[in-house]
Amino acid sequence: MKSFPGIPSISARPLRSALALIAAWATLLTSWQVVQAAPAAWQGSLPAGHLLAGRTVVIDPGHGGFDPGSIGRQADEATINLQIALALRRWLEEAGARVLMTWSKPQDIPKTRKYRVQSRMVYINSTDADVLIDIHCNASAAVWHGPQTFYWAGAPSYHLAQSIQEELQYLTGSRRQVQRIDQYVLRHAKMPAVNVEVGFITNPAEEQKLLDPEYQRRLTWAIFLGVERWFLRAHWPQDLLEAPPPTELMRR
Ligand SMILES: [Zn+2]
Repeated sequence: MKSFPGIPSISARPLRSALALIAAWATLLTSWQVVQAAPAAWQGSLPAGHLLAGRTVVIDPGHGGFDPGSIGRQADEATINLQIALALRRWLEEAGARVLMTWSKPQDIPKTRKYRVQSRMVYINSTDADVLIDIHCNASAAVWHGPQTFYWAGAPSYHLAQSIQEELQYLTGSRRQVQRIDQYVLRHAKMPAVNVEVGFITNPAEEQKLLDPEYQRRLTWAIFLGVERWFLRAHWPQDLLEAPPPTELMRR
């Protein structure tokens, strides 16, 4: 099993973290120390947080059932998407959020029955969720690698994508940037929505990492930090909150 870099220490984080409250960082630091000190903490003894209390997140692990998504050498995309979605749910719940999922176990979507993405969308929009996070794996030539976060429209979705991507860049060293993409789920979601492509399943080395529970833990921690930082945006300067996405991202 490969070793991976440690969860970034709070003190080493770039200055942009000044956007968050000291209290927020104190809580994050606490979580980080617990995780660092005792891997067993992951099994359920993390102290319940409160920063996301009252917030609802809906997570949509992409594909499932008859639709495996992209296929890697060892696994299909739906399997990895679900594993990462479940790990992310864990972090969000620890922080006090209410988490809904479009599906949370393979039996939820029988392989023999086609589901319509439209029905999934109806469910998503029937929730009172504050935010939608779609989880997918990317697919392309075998050399391509790195996580990337996409959004479709609106400053809230853009800033959420940016917040998550910054954490993913910090974790992986990837220089991939947030991009705008026309996807059914993102286009029809009535709440701020992003699609986190967690990595390329078509890159054997990255697929191996994506299947590693330790890497999944670090990856989901990064996504979680991005989400939490965005939720705490009430403390951000108004001009930043209202800033439109850079125009080059609007090209299709
Ligand atoms: Zn996908």
